[in-house]
Amino acid sequence: MNEEATRLLIEGARATGVDAARHLGAFADLLRLLQEGNARHNLTALKTEEDIVLKHFVDSLTCLRGGHLQGSLRVLDLGTGGGFPTFPLGIVQPELQITPVDATRKKIEYVRATAEALDLPQITPRSGRAEELGRDPELRGTFDRVVVRAVAALPILAELALPFLKMGGLLVAQKGPITPEELNAGRRAAREVGGEVREVDPFTLPVTGDDRTLIVIEKVAATPEKYPRAVGIPNSKPLF
Ligand code: SAM
Repeated sequence: MNEEATRLLIEGARATGVDAARHLGAFADLLRLLQEGNARHNLTALKTEEDIVLKHFVDSLTCLRGGHLQGSLRVLDLGTGGGFPTFPLGIVQPELQITPVDATRKKIEYVRATAEALDLPQITPRSGRAEELGRDPELRGTFDRVVVRAVAALPILAELALPFLKMGGLLVAQKGPITPEELNAGRRAAREVGGEVREVDPFTLPVTGDDRTLIVIEKVAATPEKYPRAVGIPNSKPLF
């Protein structure tokens, strides 16, 4: 990792309370593996080391805002793509038991190989659609947290994520700026699937100043059996 990218990583991570200097080797390995994997699997459009560090590594670490990802929690990363936020979180919080999930099998093969290469055995990837995995008795209702970054609008996320959570578990959704309309629809969808919006935390990404919002939804009631609906329906016909 070049000098400027290293500086940005340390400075950006510090803004979320993380001492990235302790993990420089792991982040440098992740950067190299992502660049190599990108040639085969189209994992990210970002090309420069500085962009990858800020817009994937530091951006993923902002999921730690609010302190909801501390301890040996069972965490599902819904729509992990090239492993974000899974890898940055797994590197700095190795006690988290993370299951990254993605509909694209090739991406999950990359994530599995990368977890092995980084020696992060607590990361156990699964390929499949959230609509189907959310009905698997081994996964439904078994997670303390669902994290999600850049996957869908809030009402869709609520329907896909809440079935995975235990009672009292939290969905931690990292998004760009959110409109009042999306937030309102997300609140209504959350209630329909057993959730309640607990936090809406707007902030700017360190260094770049890009707008982000961290939304936390708590599971307060059982998710009705009819959710999630069949593959594609949550996206094509959002609850609200
Ligand atoms: N979270 C990653 C990140 O922040 O870089 C990837 C974001 S990418 C824009 C969205 C990913 O979500 C894609 O890899 C896609 O395959 C996955 N995805 C979308 N809908 C999904 C679903 N219903 N079940 C599983 N994966 C899904």
